[in-house]
Amino acid sequence: MAATGLHVLLANPRGFCAGVDRAVATVERALALYGPPVYVRHEIVHNKQIVEGLRRKGAIFVEDLADVPPNAPTIFSAHGVSKAVEREAAARGLDVIDATCPLVRKVHKQAQRYAERGYDILVIGHAEHVEVIGTVGQIPGAVHVIARIEDIDDVVVRDADRVAFVTQTTLSVGDTRDVIAALRRRFPNIVGPDTRDICYATHNRQMAVLDLARRAELILVVGSGNSSNSNRLREIGERAGVPSFLVERPAAIDPAWLADVATIGLTAGASVPEVLVEEAIARLRSIRPVTLESLDGIVEDIEFRLPAKLLDNAAAAIP
Ligand code: SF4
Repeated sequence: MAATGLHVLLANPRGFCAGVDRAVATVERALALYGPPVYVRHEIVHNKQIVEGLRRKGAIFVEDLADVPPNAPTIFSAHGVSKAVEREAAARGLDVIDATCPLVRKVHKQAQRYAERGYDILVIGHAEHVEVIGTVGQIPGAVHVIARIEDIDDVVVRDADRVAFVTQTTLSVGDTRDVIAALRRRFPNIVGPDTRDICYATHNRQMAVLDLARRAELILVVGSGNSSNSNRLREIGERAGVPSFLVERPAAIDPAWLADVATIGLTAGASVPEVLVEEAIARLRSIRPVTLESLDGIVEDIEFRLPAKLLDNAAAAIP
């Protein structure tokens, strides 16, 4: 008997955000301008295929600046770095190109402004995530990391009337709203940015998954296991009551998931190139006949300029 068809709903928006696009383009431009190798501190974005592709072109990924030779071109990843890392790079004379996403940089600046005014800063996020490590390390003075509402009771601040919060950019918008509401109950005078201000791409991709969850019986999120925003997309689908799977590679799509399912939703994390979505569709087609439907969603037209140093160098290189 012929296999029955599978209707695949494509989320919009999905995949690459402007910060990831800029970070990947930064490495490619640096490779073209300086020639390989260029050094990149941490995975430029949390996507194994992207990192492998850049490695093949001559990027060398390191976790520790001690592994970078003196004066070598060195790129900071989209997640941002601490002041200590900036100081170490300067002390070692590294030629730094900063690919920190401008929206992460904005969080650093917000926190620094509050800290300069004597506020204790609460960073809502996951303490072990590289973006949060960078943000915490950008803040002079008292700083505390809060991952969950349960953490709030343990926070000890100097003055309950001078407390500010900032957030990791890739959290669940709904969870973050709940944490902020709980913070406001404990610290009625707390200040901080609106959740809508966190990151347009995180917000839009999460809204698109909620849309999928209303229509699909199962959701597939293409993304790496260490990608915070991809994990949040899977969680949001699951919490909306739809079985949801994070798939790093199309081959990981298990035909058993699709048994008895007629309509699935497909999306991708902010660090995932569209080619991986296409490969996922090809994998689905190898299992069942597929009809595709691209859902309407928020149209994104945000672009971030490359780091000025690359633009300047590029201009200088033109005879
Ligand atoms: Fe920047 Fe948002 Fe993309 Fe993170 S998810 S790199 S903050 S645009």
